[in-house]
Amino acid sequence: MISLPSIARSARRVTAPAALTLAACAPQTSIPATAVPPTGKALAAACDGRTGWSDPAPPAKIFGNSYYVGTCGITVILIDAPGGLVLIDGATGEAVPSILANIRALGFDPKNIRTLLATHEHYDHVGGLKALQDATGAKVFARREAVAPLRSGEADAIDPQRGAIPPFKGVTVSGELHDGEALPIADIDLTPHATPGHTPGSTSWTWKSCEGAVCRTIAYVDSLSAVSADDYRFSDHPDYVAMMRATFTKVAALPCDILVTPHPSASDLFARLADRPEVTVSQCREYAFGAARRLDERLAKEKAAK
Ligand SMILES: [Zn+2]
Repeated sequence: MISLPSIARSARRVTAPAALTLAACAPQTSIPATAVPPTGKALAAACDGRTGWSDPAPPAKIFGNSYYVGTCGITVILIDAPGGLVLIDGATGEAVPSILANIRALGFDPKNIRTLLATHEHYDHVGGLKALQDATGAKVFARREAVAPLRSGEADAIDPQRGAIPPFKGVTVSGELHDGEALPIADIDLTPHATPGHTPGSTSWTWKSCEGAVCRTIAYVDSLSAVSADDYRFSDHPDYVAMMRATFTKVAALPCDILVTPHPSASDLFARLADRPEVTVSQCREYAFGAARRLDERLAKEKAAK
């Protein structure tokens, strides 16, 4: 079980009357009148031709209480949750000043970040977590499979990319999260989903976000790609491949009004934000089916090279 004393203001949300739900969806930390409303169009324009993992990007509103505060190449999500801000992912160490600047530009104080979460334990997504933890005092929570890599900064022993990717600065992890169990943050149903494959600790997130009477489920679905060190063959690891296939099936069925991905290019995120997110139930399914197709291609290639 986890314990989030600083944010555990109420138990997991159950169905609430509409009026109550709407009131609860209102942001807790208001944006000053001087703040310019961030648009996906500005983000798309600023990152046109720039895809570096640490290339600074302006912030953009995704929907309701949820904002993009990452770089041109790596997604970082800010949620204005009841009881404190939540940040999912930290990009690279180099990206941290721009992430903090984005949070401030939106009118939020980074010191109000209470909770730091992550998709997967690779340096391009969690390399900045340590500096963000130091800057905010926020607590990190993760699924059990991700805890040891997050603490050590080293890829897991069964991670297909182990040995091929640089280490990152480890963080203090305050507690474990469990698949499908919402965090004890009121009203938004922020839920981790175990989606292992890209890494053993890969975690996807869903939560509810509202604009007035309109509420959407945002699905921040982790990378699903079968990428590895040069000498690794997925065909030699049938159990790992089966785990990946189970993840694709699971992702295809996630509640998914608005899909967000750790690499924005993997789901054409900036273009979708520029138009305001198109809400289609097929976004997570398409993302999962694409990953399944690429895994099949990879396995066929390994077979041909045998
Ligand atoms: Zn990765």
